[in-house]
Amino acid sequence: MAKVLIIGAGGVGAVVAHKCASVPEVFSEIMLASRTKSKCDKIAAAVGGNRIQTAQVDADNVQETIQLIQQYKPDLVINVALPYQDLPIMDACLATKTNYMDTANYEPKDEAKFEYKWQWAYQDKFKEAGIMALLGCGFDPGVTSIYTAYAAKHHFDEIHYLDIVDCNAGDHGKAFATNFNPEINIREITQKGKYWENGQWIEIEPMSIHKPIHYPNVGEKESYLLYHEELESLTKNYPTLKRARFWMTFGPKYINVLNVLQEVGLTSIKPINFEGKEIVPLQFLKAVLPEPASLAEGYTGQTSIGCQIKGIKDGQEKTYFVWNNCDHAEVNREIGAQAVSYTTGVPAMLGAKMILTGKWKGTGVFNVEEFDPDPFMAEIGKYGLPWNEEINQPLSVEK
Ligand code: NDP
Repeated sequence: MAKVLIIGAGGVGAVVAHKCASVPEVFSEIMLASRTKSKCDKIAAAVGGNRIQTAQVDADNVQETIQLIQQYKPDLVINVALPYQDLPIMDACLATKTNYMDTANYEPKDEAKFEYKWQWAYQDKFKEAGIMALLGCGFDPGVTSIYTAYAAKHHFDEIHYLDIVDCNAGDHGKAFATNFNPEINIREITQKGKYWENGQWIEIEPMSIHKPIHYPNVGEKESYLLYHEELESLTKNYPTLKRARFWMTFGPKYINVLNVLQEVGLTSIKPINFEGKEIVPLQFLKAVLPEPASLAEGYTGQTSIGCQIKGIKDGQEKTYFVWNNCDHAEVNREIGAQAVSYTTGVPAMLGAKMILTGKWKGTGVFNVEEFDPDPFMAEIGKYGLPWNEEINQPLSVEK
């Protein structure tokens, strides 16, 4: 029986709220707070049964968040607002000695650069306060890191090659939209790509390495090498990795539109003066693009995300592929969400459950792969994200 405070009422926040509400034996009291309270109220009404209280909070303002935490006294804060809010919410958790978790690592507003260093720097402070911060418990990062930990624990003596493969083969019918927060998504895609090889990071021009990869139940899709944050923690926690890469699919239309937006300067995060007011072009673009949660209605097709791993077991080379497919229309029928929000929100709820039931415990700052993957892997299917595995089959990323 525990009290949770969810911050952020977007596509992911709605899923976390629905899923926590469906597990009352753990999440006995739930508060959903966000910048725009009406969005929290709408989600609370959709969940029904007076399960969810709501509040307004500007999580950039540490004092406001401290006040809310002091009034509500949650056992855990689940941050599903934006990466910019990670540090202010961690500060509020420290001040009130409250456990913290999130699904995306901190990035400064004025630089499109995401790194764990800012959050890892809280290690000693969280330890001294006797509380836990769990970082990156969505799907990627999140489940992909737990898949890797599960593979390393059960299938290998040493893992050498890791390829995280992320496909959204869905169709939302919109001319152009992003599946999670547009500002964060576009910052991620337009920055330089990076992968780990032989003990160092290799940087590449944005979207300059790509190839077709086969995804189960979807088929072959052009996939682009991007930098993704779990590569940073996984290469640190699994030093035997000789190479670690992250691939994501994009359709030709998406890339064409993105190129045009970039060429005309609309993806820039450098402020400009517009009619006497300073605006950030990318924030303006976000304001005219569909909100991620609004894509759910009529979205068809599936996501397919997994880890393709190669290493050594009992002196023999071994390959292992573990993945989940999630159907947009099915999860819309279940809780009115699209699959990208769903695949992020379900692991966030389950990570929270792992903490609140004491299956994952400790003081300090942790990435998900540092905990035992077994209890999480045993339950994730039951909450809507079943997984599949293939052993010693040719890895499609290598073809
Ligand atoms: P949305 O844009 O749909 O929602 C973001 C929410 O955060 C909005 O409700 C917004 O409020 C709120 N918010 C923004 N700023 C503040 C603030 N200062 N104080 C309080 N609330 C604020 O994004 P998503 O739901 O798609 O994404 C949420 C998070 O999940 C992001 O950090 C994203 O990076 C992460 N994510 C992680 C994934 C993973 O697999 N690990 C995959 C997908 C997303 P308002 O409505 O007023 O704008």
